[in-house]
Amino acid sequence: MKKWEDNIRKVVPYTPGEQPNQPDMIKLNTNENPYPPSPEVTKALQAIDTDALRLYPDPAAEDLVQAVADHYGLNKDQVFVGVGSDDVLAMSFLTFFNGSKPVLFPDITYSFYDVWADLFRIPYERPALDENFHIRKEDYFRENGGIIFPNPNAPTGVELPQQDIEEIIRRNPDVIVIVDEAYVDFGAKSALPLIDKYENLLVVQTFSKSRSMAGMRIGFAMGNPVLIKYLNDVKYSFNSYTMDRTALATGVAAVKDKKYFYETCKKIIDTREWTKEQLKALGFSFEDSMTNFIFAEHESCQAEELFQALRNNHIYVRYFPGGRTGNHLRITIGTQKEMEIFIDFLKKYLKKE
Ligand code: PMP
Repeated sequence: MKKWEDNIRKVVPYTPGEQPNQPDMIKLNTNENPYPPSPEVTKALQAIDTDALRLYPDPAAEDLVQAVADHYGLNKDQVFVGVGSDDVLAMSFLTFFNGSKPVLFPDITYSFYDVWADLFRIPYERPALDENFHIRKEDYFRENGGIIFPNPNAPTGVELPQQDIEEIIRRNPDVIVIVDEAYVDFGAKSALPLIDKYENLLVVQTFSKSRSMAGMRIGFAMGNPVLIKYLNDVKYSFNSYTMDRTALATGVAAVKDKKYFYETCKKIIDTREWTKEQLKALGFSFEDSMTNFIFAEHESCQAEELFQALRNNHIYVRYFPGGRTGNHLRITIGTQKEMEIFIDFLKKYLKKE
């Protein structure tokens, strides 16, 4: 190692799911939405005045903040927006997890949490999920420097009941509890109603899944105005213009089209329930998922073998080798048609027909 490398911040980065690009592929590996964004998004994109791109965007992202606040029945000062929820979460780690006690998050969860903690030099501990991949609320009833977990959890898809979430928040009044609700719109219960009751709760959501806009990078946080102010202080100390003009305009259009949003979520939920039945009949087991993916294990076929076989047929799912998750596949819910092709492949491969 060169001497100058001593001064370098060394990190082990997060590995995003692969983004293959084949015309005939069925892409069930990164929990994207298989349906396009609302037609209102197309209109908003077409209406963008390219001359205005000379000018910086609104640093406060007022229109988008207002649209999100209106949708969720909040005031503007209860909403923060960022470049996907990854940006909102990273900013939240930097803002709220600034103590010397360990931050707590589950051992099996979104694998970006430990990366941010390492990047920002935040101490952390990872209480183990129980043998059925459920969060044990009691693990979070001890001294800590903050708490974060997704609800439903990823990659397990398991929802923590609302009363358990409330108990975790209630028992931790001296730290910030962040509930990452990236997948909440697919049938789980949001902790949002609790933000008026608990000033230490931050709820984070995204346009990447339920609003089909992973490519536009829009995420948001909701909490009491003091938390939102602290988040903005950190944001303005880092990069004032996180949201570009296209993201602001299309984000507003997407959030206003409630009908399309609810219809798309319903289609995915219906296909998910159909897929669950099919997978069970084929010998898969999994905890019940309230997300747009299913985290499943087969009774006899090894996950890695199945992952490769699917891949060879241009069907992409996510496989996390090693540890307790090493024999599972995370299967994103695609269109009904895509899931039928996927299930047909499995039937043949597992010689069930
Ligand atoms: N939280 C969880 C639990 C996720 O799975 C993801 C998706 N990778 C994110 C946050 C980040 O999503 P995005 O940055 O696209 O909003």
